[in-house]
This record gives sequence, structure tokens and C-alpha cells, in this order.
Amino acid sequence: MKALIAVLPGDGIGPEVVREGVRVLQAVAQRHGHDFTLVEADFGGVAIEATGEPLPQATLDLCLKSDAILLGAIGGPKWSAPDAKARPETGLLRLRKELAVYANLRPVAVHPALRSASTIRPEILEGVDLVFVRELTGGIYFGAKTRDATTASDLCSYSVAEVERVTRVAARLAQARRGKLTSIDTSNVLETSRLWRETVTRLMKAEFPDVTVEHALVDSAAMHLIRRPADYDVIVTENMFGDILTDEASMLAGSLGVSPSASLGDGTRGLYEPIHGSAPDIAGKGIANPVGTILSVALLLRHSLGLEAEAKEIEGAVYRALDAGLRTADIASVEVNGGKSVSTSEAGDVILRQLASA
Ligand code: NAD
Repeated sequence: MKALIAVLPGDGIGPEVVREGVRVLQAVAQRHGHDFTLVEADFGGVAIEATGEPLPQATLDLCLKSDAILLGAIGGPKWSAPDAKARPETGLLRLRKELAVYANLRPVAVHPALRSASTIRPEILEGVDLVFVRELTGGIYFGAKTRDATTASDLCSYSVAEVERVTRVAARLAQARRGKLTSIDTSNVLETSRLWRETVTRLMKAEFPDVTVEHALVDSAAMHLIRRPADYDVIVTENMFGDILTDEASMLAGSLGVSPSASLGDGTRGLYEPIHGSAPDIAGKGIANPVGTILSVALLLRHSLGLEAEAKEIEGAVYRALDAGLRTADIASVEVNGGKSVSTSEAGDVILRQLASA
């Protein structure tokens, strides 16, 4: 298969983890005879340095003509001063909007080998296999902002159409999985949440009667997520709640470093990135965990290129590597290898070896 893939390494540990993701993509292409053209472009803080803008026009043009985009992470202290003229994060919000990727999928499966890396008791983690679908291009992050000397406001708004399209993505996923959808809102307080709940209820009844739907309030859902996480299948929620809850859920898996994400719209083009940020505290040390990025590559092959077997091969290689004791510093434990850990590129080597033996 032929595909154009935009590669945006970004800032901090972004280039370190993306390097390993690219090696895996190239290995899969070679193994299966695919013709992937990978084109790198500046995005985020590095782009601000080079052009003054976090999302230069050339980068946006490349992304718009690509079949998929692989992103590392962006941002860092250098560009986060309160009076900064250009911010990496505004580039990311704009890229998501321009690509119209309104559904952010974040699978959280706790691999048995990593149960001890989590701060949650291992027995609570047994059988955890859930997917968050976070609305990504609406809500308070995109609403009008006001500010004067003593007051500030951020507008949160949602339309029926915005809620419907992200609910459909979540419902289709639930159909292909265990048939259960949990919609999280705060309909006891917010008008946008009341619209959200009414819309989800109506749409699910009309279009997905085979999926069981439950509604939950965001505060108690935050608690249940770490009390009985194995009960969830697919969770759909609005932008800001999803932002917060998905970071909470990622800790079930032991580290921010192991979780992938896919951002999808109406077509097959998608934006794929690990859920973590640029981790300035460890950038340049060569110790970042590349697993979240490599699993994002698997999602890219599955959702944008329709290469399910190749996606499964990568996931299998990662899980076998973890079973065999692969540990970067963030998931190191004394029970495994006496707490010793490998570097980012060594982790890539181990996963590539597993892939070659698949
Ligand atoms: P972060 O995710 O970068 O780091 C949080 C903690 O997790 C740090 O201790 C870090 O060392 C660790 N960590 C993260 N990824 C890891 C990995 N792959 N391997 C090992 N350890 C890992 O979050 P932060 O510190 O709050 O944010 C740092 C910067 O990243 C900020 O500028 C923020 O805006 C940006 N950010 C970007 C994105 C994105 O690009 N989508 C997402 C979140 C944060």
C-alpha cells in the first residue's frame, strides 16, 4: 500500500520517541512491502524558533495532503511565559481544528506485566480494557475568551451536531467491543451537559439500540474510574472532562509513557500521538518511554490505512517485549531486572527484534 505520512517530532522528548516510532513504521513497510513516504516538518516550539509560528503554513499544507500524521509532543518552559506572543499549544488546537479531527480515541488496557507499575492495587486493574472518546474540537477550550484587569471568562458551547458526530464514533466502537457506552457529563449543573445528555440519549435509542448506555456525572465518574475501572468499555465525554479524565485513566496503565492516542474525523485521515507531553524534565537524557508512540503507530495503521494485521503485529511485539522484561526508567521496578532500565533507543531495538520474530 502507498501512503504519505507527515511526521512532526515537536519538542522535548518528542523527537526522541518519534525516532523509535518511525523505525517501527519503516520496519513494517519493509516486512509487508508497503510504500510509505515519511515527510518531517516543524511543529510547536521548534517551529516558533524557525518561523515565529507554532503551525507554519508549509506544515499545515503537508498535514492536509497526508494520509496520516504522527506527532511526538510539543511545548516546554521556553514558550510558556504568560506574555508569550506565540504558544506551541495554540498550534496544536489549530491543527486539530484544521484537520477536523473531532474524536480523540485513547485506549487504556493494563498489560498484566505492568500491573505492578501502577499506583493502583493490582487486583483493581485486572481486566481493565477501556477506550475513551474525547470530543476534541469544541467546548471551553475553543470558546470565546475575555479578560480585563479583574475578571476573565471562557465560553463553553456545544451544538447538537457536534455531540452527535462524536457519539457516533464512540457507539460504533462500542458495537465492535463489549457493547457498552458510558457518557460522562455534569448535567446537574451545566446547560451544555444537559444538551449533551439529551442528544446522546436520543441518538443512541434511534441509531444504536444494541448498545447499552449509561450516563454518569463527571465527579463520581472520576472516582469510579480508579475504584472499578474494569467495568468500563467505551466512555464518551466533552473536551475538558476528557482531557482531565484521560490523564487520570492513563495512570491505571502505570505511566503516561505507555498510552497512545488517535484523533479522527469523518474520513480516514488521523492525527496520532502518545498522550504525554514534551517532558522537559527528562528531555535530552535518552530515557523517555517510546511505547506510547509505537502503539500510536499501530493505531495509525489500523484507523488511517486499514492495516489491521500490521497494527496487531506491533501491539503483539510491544506486549511480548514488556512480558520479557522491557522496562524504561518510568516503569522500572525492583521485581523486574532488579530495577534496571533501558534507554529509549534500546527499548526501540527490543521491540523491533520482537517484530522481526513475529
Ligand atoms: P508531560 O506529559 O510532559 O510530563 C509529565 C511527567 O510524566 C513528567 O515527569 C515526565 O517526565 C513524565 N513522562 C511523560 N512522558 C513520558 C515518557 N514517554 N517516558 C517517561 N516519562 C514520561 O506533562 P507536563 O510536564 O505537564 O508538560 C510538559 C510540556 O508538555 C508542557 O509544555 C505542556 O504544555 C506540554 N504538553 C504537550 C502535549 C502534547 O503535545 N499533546 C500534551 C501534554 C502536555
